[in-house]
Amino acid sequence: KSGFISIIGRPNVGKSTFLNRVIGQKIAIMSDKPQTTRNKVQGVLTTDASQMIFIDTPGIHKPKHKLGDFMLKVAKNTLREVDVIMFMVNAEQKLGKGDEFILEMLAGNSTPVFLVINKIDQIHPDELIGIIDSYKERYPFAEIVPISALQGNNVENLLATLSNYL
Ligand code: GDP
Ligand code: MG
Repeated sequence: KSGFISIIGRPNVGKSTFLNRVIGQKIAIMSDKPQTTRNKVQGVLTTDASQMIFIDTPGIHKPKHKLGDFMLKVAKNTLREVDVIMFMVNAEQKLGKGDEFILEMLAGNSTPVFLVINKIDQIHPDELIGIIDSYKERYPFAEIVPISALQGNNVENLLATLSNYL
């Protein structure tokens, strides 16, 4: 099994921390290379069972930047072409403007979207259900997976679930 996974989410939600945990130092090397396609490969995770190619989707991460129609189209097309979209949010933060922007971009997409709730080490377990509900009513997520990218909680489970969609 092999496939492309786009990681999207507001700044500082933990995207790089996640990639560094699952892929290690290789990322730093790869992300310095010039783009050969419109999508930047951030890292490749190869196991006995699968190969996961994590990519960055330009145009999704900077809601403050005024994007032209063309850039929006490029970003939306990219989201159609990948196998899974990982939408990462910070468990400590309320759904904000940056998240709204991303949810608007995702609307009408048929690619499976994982809601990855990161930094669960920072919240009380009882808070999780409320967070899940607030996002659930906004989008039909294929999977909702709470993790701590920093401490590693549930990261193996996330990878196993991702591989089911490749
Ligand atoms: P990015 O902008 O989405 O790539 O976010 P980063 O990976 O750079 O992380 C932003 C900050 O959040 C850094 O200080 C990380 O150490 C911290 N961080 C990332 N994941 C976690 C987590 O699971 N728990 C906690 N407590 N902090 C985290
Ligand atoms: Mg980053």
